[in-house]
Amino acid sequence: MSKILIIEDEEAIAELEKDYLELSGFEVVIENDGLQGLNEALKGDYDLYILDLMLPGMDGFEICRRIRDEKNTPIIMVSAKKDDIDKIRGLGFGADDYMTKPFSPSELVARVKAHLAQYDRLMSSRVPKNHVIKIRGLKIDTTARRVWVNDVETQFTTKEFDLLTFLAENPNHVFSKEELFRKIWNMESIGDIATVTVHIKKIREKIEFDTAKPQYIETIWGVGYRFKI
Ligand code: CA
Repeated sequence: MSKILIIEDEEAIAELEKDYLELSGFEVVIENDGLQGLNEALKGDYDLYILDLMLPGMDGFEICRRIRDEKNTPIIMVSAKKDDIDKIRGLGFGADDYMTKPFSPSELVARVKAHLAQYDRLMSSRVPKNHVIKIRGLKIDTTARRVWVNDVETQFTTKEFDLLTFLAENPNHVFSKEELFRKIWNMESIGDIATVTVHIKKIREKIEFDTAKPQYIETIWGVGYRFKI
């Protein structure tokens, strides 16, 4: 759930904003004083700030600047004076949006949602997501090299992990033992391809409910193995 901090000294307005945001599923905290608002903004874990311009303790300009020194969290600045909004927009205080009071609460909610979505997109494009394969009860995080079987994390050796991941990344494709040996052990097939059989057996013991009736890695007699989806 996204958490929003409202810094607003007019309590009736703050409460109205809070009601509408809570109806839309947001968690909301109100601060009525500028200085306390700034402290809360910096120490709390918020997803968005709604910041009034004229406040006791410290004004919205200063609060905005101080938040921006530390965080990229979206800020929507509000003011009763359209002139002020035009002025701060021109000065580029680092707020993401500006609204002139009075505004309709549903307009505020719409803008909050838009900024949160935009911020999420920005952050997710910066942090590469782990590549995760999910097939029924099996979850493989190939980035972190971790495996869960029916939600229980299970340990695999390096080669077991590589073999399982390779098969799961190429489902419904039949590979011969020779192909798998070359692929995973990364050498020409001069070694013992029985290694593949041994590893498949170990993997099955970890992922299959009944190794006699494998649900994931199927044996194709006389050919090799196939990962079923
Ligand atoms: Ca005010």
